[in-house]
Amino acid sequence: MSEVAEQLAAVEARIAAACRRACRERSEVGLIAVSKTFPAEAVAEAAAAGQTLFGESRWQEAEPKIGALPDTLRWHFIGGVQRNKVRKILPLFEAVHAIDSLRLAAYADQVASELGLKPKVFFQVNPAGEASKGGFEPDTLRRELEELLTLRSLEVQGLMVIPPDDDEPRRWFAGVRKLRDELAAASGHPLAGLSMGMSGDYEEAIEEGATLVRVGSAIFGRRAYRVDGELG
Ligand SMILES: *Cc1c(COP(=O)(O)O)cnc(C)c1O
Repeated sequence: MSEVAEQLAAVEARIAAACRRACRERSEVGLIAVSKTFPAEAVAEAAAAGQTLFGESRWQEAEPKIGALPDTLRWHFIGGVQRNKVRKILPLFEAVHAIDSLRLAAYADQVASELGLKPKVFFQVNPAGEASKGGFEPDTLRRELEELLTLRSLEVQGLMVIPPDDDEPRRWFAGVRKLRDELAAASGHPLAGLSMGMSGDYEEAIEEGATLVRVGSAIFGRRAYRVDGELG
């Protein structure tokens, strides 16, 4: 078994255990294998071990990688979205996780409509108001959600968060789930998707209700370089 396959199996086992602890079905939680900075060969190893869903955070890096791999794989764009890349991102990715303003959402909706696409989207929340991260502050989302939900070419999934780098990720995950429950009740839209949890905290995220975890280094190993403007 390849190292990637072994690490993927270990992550799978931990996901299954977290689901059992939380009395959730394994099928309620999707695993995005975050392959940013890793070559297509590493993705192919994970794919050979059964993984089909992958995450990338820069279009420039993702485009040749996706092109080099079988089109049976599915891709989510998890990085910050530059407006001038929207037209390139939407055809390659079935979901975009970091929609962080009404303006960006409206633009993505317009482009999706022009291209005849209906991308899945998550609204990124910035619960601590960190200047270094994108995302809606909770009050902005409360104010703008109704308008966001009128964007007909976006298939709104729910919320996404990258919690502050402290030792209480669980508290942030629980807070985002509460915010989701509140927004769902107020809007009548289920906002069923919760994209939260990375290599260091995906088990807590699952226990707090994550429906998609974004796991990179625990599967592919340490990244050799940082992605500009992105996490590690
Ligand atoms: C890089 C990245 C991840 C994966 O991080 P790991 O700690 O390697 O699991 C998850 N989410 C986002 C938004 C990222 O940029």
